[in-house]
Amino acid sequence: MNIVVLVKQVPDTWSERKLTDADHTLDRESADAVLDEINERAVEEALQLQEAHGGEVTVIAMGPDRATDAIRKALSMGADKAIHVSDEALHGSDSIATAKVLAKAIGTVENVDLVIAGNEATDGRAGAVPAIIAELLGLPQVTQLRKVTVEGTTIKGERETDEGVAFLEASLPAVVSVTEKINEPRYPSFKGIMAAKKKPVSTVSIADLGVDASEVGLSGAWTQVLEAAPKPPRSAGQRVEDSGDGGAKIAEFLVGQKLI
Ligand SMILES: Cc1cc2nc3c(=O)[nH]c(=O)nc-3n(C[C@H](O)[C@H](O)[C@H](O)COP(=O)(O)OP(=O)(O)OC[C@H]3O[C@@H](n4cnc5c(N)ncnc54)[C@H](O)[C@@H]3O)c2cc1C
Repeated sequence: MNIVVLVKQVPDTWSERKLTDADHTLDRESADAVLDEINERAVEEALQLQEAHGGEVTVIAMGPDRATDAIRKALSMGADKAIHVSDEALHGSDSIATAKVLAKAIGTVENVDLVIAGNEATDGRAGAVPAIIAELLGLPQVTQLRKVTVEGTTIKGERETDEGVAFLEASLPAVVSVTEKINEPRYPSFKGIMAAKKKPVSTVSIADLGVDASEVGLSGAWTQVLEAAPKPPRSAGQRVEDSGDGGAKIAEFLVGQKLI
């Protein structure tokens, strides 16, 4: 089965992340960039399905030049080839534009049976890209899965929620998104790292995908960040001494804050 995995390079959550003053987009240069951990799990799931069912695993990333590092990591884990969508015009793209571009890139891969994404990127956290892609491609979507199995032309998945576990299935081709419970991703082996250097990575622009610059980037975004300010430092808080009336004092405080 031919699987596409959508991988995003994100600022390391351990780095201090900030927005640029110029256009309030994420300052990607100021933080270490890594392959998003949820996408390592998506790659792992694709590799396990490939081991069971054969086929090819293609990773697709939309991002600046240095996103090649994230792509190489996915290839060193075992993916076969990659597409890197890189274009100056993509800076500031919103979820809709991102999904549009990724859907076009998926369209360049032959006979795709399954698209696997993370449920939510650690930086944007929209949790919307996989669903928008499914809509654009007219494919069934099975999102937020903690378990995935393929039986013939059917994909089955388990979605864990606060209310319980939902058992879902759809016919292939389909788009799935996975949560952090899906698996433990493998570490790239030395052999895998060396092999990744020779695997094909095709870099494409939005023109190559037939997307117009006006549909992407900050100018094409449906929403705009007008203002951003750093989080204020934490205040010392208010200490409540309990001399029998602690509960009432806390309730009074919460009422004052309009929290109850
Ligand atoms: C600082 C900041 C400012 C922003 N400003 C704006 C704004 O002004 N207006 C606006 O509309 N939006 C804005 N966004 C949203 C931003 O454009 C989204 O981050 C982006 O479009 C995709 O959404 P997401 O990363 O939240 O994806 P999610 O839907 O959370 O991602 C889920 C999965 O989709 C896949 N995926 C997502 N993106 C990619 C990618 N680039 N390449 C490959 N796979 C991918 C991955 O598998 C990922 O795990 C801003 C985001 C940030 C961090």
